[in-house]
Amino acid sequence: MTRQNTNHLRCPWATTEPAIAYHDKEWGVPVHDDRLLFEFLILEGAQAGLSWITILKKRENYRKAFDRFRAEKIAKYGARDVKRLLRNEGIVRNRLKIAAAIQNAKAFLAVRKEFGSFDAYLWSFVGGKPIQNRWRTMAKVPARTAESDAMSRDLLRRGFKFAGSTICYALMQATGMVNDHLVTCPRHVELGGKRSTIGDPKEGAAITSRAVFQNPTLAP
Ligand SMILES: [Zn+2]
Repeated sequence: MTRQNTNHLRCPWATTEPAIAYHDKEWGVPVHDDRLLFEFLILEGAQAGLSWITILKKRENYRKAFDRFRAEKIAKYGARDVKRLLRNEGIVRNRLKIAAAIQNAKAFLAVRKEFGSFDAYLWSFVGGKPIQNRWRTMAKVPARTAESDAMSRDLLRRGFKFAGSTICYALMQATGMVNDHLVTCPRHVELGGKRSTIGDPKEGAAITSRAVFQNPTLAP
């Protein structure tokens, strides 16, 4: 069996743009840039209660509204900035989420001072390298794990807001701390996951039938 026959399906949550491009280029790629890690933390927090696609569509507006996620700037935001952000229709106009972004910028700067980088601090919760998972269906993918619980506990203790365990887990998935691409997705292997199916006939068969069902171009 060639890889094309078994592993040619994007994770089923990415069905339309901009989710497809995000899935193919970004989701699960290890991030070690402090600014980008901070961006994901704020965006995942902003997402709470909404769909990720909503946030993805607003992402460029967020970058403009929040000084390209430079924490040094955001930490200094005052009442006037809060007013400006609450008037900005391009972002999620939620007072608590906006206040959280400012508070998180302050906490981010404190962490960076203590650990040298936000990167070193966040990645310590997964031992510095991506956790390689082998999920076969979306139903298996957890919403939180022991690692995200630990990250959340520590972030909250340091004064971060909108940093619950499910938000932390979404952050870990997005920034490649875990590889949660399904084993059927080409990105799973591309991001370091082991190849699947051969030597596992039961699961292999299940994957093949699912693949054909979801992607008509694979049908004979
Ligand atoms: Zn995928």
